[in-house]
Amino acid sequence: MPRAGSRLRIVLGLVVAMAALGAAAGPVLGAQPGVSVPTAKVAFLDAITFTGSATLTSDVVRVEIVVDIEGSTRSIVAVVPTTVSSGEAKLSWVLDAPGGFLLPNTDVRARFRLTLANGSSVVGPATSVHYDDTRFKWKTVTGDFVTVHWVDGGQAFGQRAMKIGDDAIRSVSALLGVTERDPIDFYVYGDRTAFYDVLGAGTRENVGGEAHPDIRTLFANISPDAVDDPWVGVVIPHELTHLVFDSASQNPYHHPLHWLNEGIAVYLSEGYTTSDRGAVAAAVEAGTLMPLQALGAQFPTTQDR
Ligand SMILES: [Zn+2]
Repeated sequence: MPRAGSRLRIVLGLVVAMAALGAAAGPVLGAQPGVSVPTAKVAFLDAITFTGSATLTSDVVRVEIVVDIEGSTRSIVAVVPTTVSSGEAKLSWVLDAPGGFLLPNTDVRARFRLTLANGSSVVGPATSVHYDDTRFKWKTVTGDFVTVHWVDGGQAFGQRAMKIGDDAIRSVSALLGVTERDPIDFYVYGDRTAFYDVLGAGTRENVGGEAHPDIRTLFANISPDAVDDPWVGVVIPHELTHLVFDSASQNPYHHPLHWLNEGIAVYLSEGYTTSDRGAVAAAVEAGTLMPLQALGAQFPTTQDR
């Protein structure tokens, strides 16, 4: 059995020998697998390109990117192709961003991930990018609840839109018994084409506004000379009602009833109008009111009577 001193010399000798072997075989031997933080390059309505680098070792079996889009509960996981199997690798992956898929005012987070042969993974640092409509120079005004972003029209236009929005949030919150705390963004497009570009090809025609509760954002198409038109005072409260309804009813188990959501939005933006009263009276007369049982469905139709 060697004495303590000679044992130390043996260990030191081994370390030196291993270091020499490592140096002779190149820097990869003994290198740790790792990935850089992605760099994001945004081309609005086109794509976000994430680039970075990885140190690959022989036990890396897969290189992936994990992308989280604000408002979505599911991550996008995609394989990132590499041209080398070990050593330094350049990484690049493109997230397509057509209109309607990725909306302005959305945060996108991404990180690279390596999966090793033993099943473990190496997760790199995340980058976060705020996807914005960079085609315009936006003016901004912030009220009690709503921040209005607009392009065409003066300060009075923004103030007017903000007041309509704030008043709507106040009345809906009072009815539903919820308090809105998180900010709500309201993007006003004066240009119709620019507005439809953002909402995407699937949008039906003649939509004045569209609320996206998942990103707490309302998009509307209002030209500067139309802010006092009666329809504006209906569309903005209607869409914002959907947003507050979402706050009031959000739960992990099921979607709230669609007819109730839509009904409250119509009731609060237009009231119980003469034509609505007429429709109800006619249904009572004809015996075609929805039975209570049908009201348990998302949106009962004539078949449910
Ligand atoms: Zn609606």
